[in-house]
Amino acid sequence: MKQTTLARELKFSGVGLHSGFRVTLGLVPAPPNTGIVFRRLDLNDFEIEALRRNVAKVNFATTLMKQGVMISTVEHIMSAVYGLGIDNLYICVDSLEIPILDGSAQPFVEAIREVGLENQNCRREYIHVLKPFHWSEKGKSICLEPYQGLRVTCVIDFPHPLIGVQKLDLLLDPGTYRQQICFARTFGFYRQVEALLKNNLIRGGSYDNAIVLSDDGIVNGKLRRPDEFVRHKALDLIGDIALLGKPLLGHVKAYRAGHAAHATFVGKFLQQTDAYQIAGLAPQLAT
Ligand SMILES: [Zn+2]
Repeated sequence: MKQTTLARELKFSGVGLHSGFRVTLGLVPAPPNTGIVFRRLDLNDFEIEALRRNVAKVNFATTLMKQGVMISTVEHIMSAVYGLGIDNLYICVDSLEIPILDGSAQPFVEAIREVGLENQNCRREYIHVLKPFHWSEKGKSICLEPYQGLRVTCVIDFPHPLIGVQKLDLLLDPGTYRQQICFARTFGFYRQVEALLKNNLIRGGSYDNAIVLSDDGIVNGKLRRPDEFVRHKALDLIGDIALLGKPLLGHVKAYRAGHAAHATFVGKFLQQTDAYQIAGLAPQLAT
């Protein structure tokens, strides 16, 4: 398999969910072996690689930081990029947070699909899981097992009449990502709004960019699927796993996890160097 990038540039604009700042985002094709790199256009094009080592904060969103320069709420664009199999890309922003758009990854995915990807003359390398790796803490757990593809199993359990226990189990490829995951929006609880605002969070939040839940229903509109909640958790999980830096061949099973759990898991897994190998596809899989 060859590495890929975007066929041509794309532009988006919107507000940051937590900062409330207006931001313009550009997706720019990048040469082979670049990986995914954020660029702060407002800070002399300062670059932050989309890698686990640059993760700085994980409360309510995943924030990267390098030499004191931040880029926040990266998980939905990272999920779109990873879900669609893009290896090399510059993600250019003129502020410190990725725009939230409709709270899902769908606007990114549909725009990327329209311009298409370009194969590059360089072999793609994968992270092959060699043996099971398990992490758990305070009722949350994530494990990763060897698998000849990327399979994601996600279970959530929220004490809310519309959520409860939801489970999703998918073998991921760009088509499945687009049809089963990318449209799922982020969600939050109305009774937490005041506390979040006090903590300088969700300053750009609105009824147009999140599912807002009351104690027994939804405050704004309808769900896109009855299990949109677990689909969004899978979307977030894929965006955080993308910080491995290479496509993963393995089966990820996440139970009641969130950004903090994802980041901890990815960090510990990368340290467990006998649990994986970085290599191209075996010849029988490459066809
Ligand atoms: Zn999310």
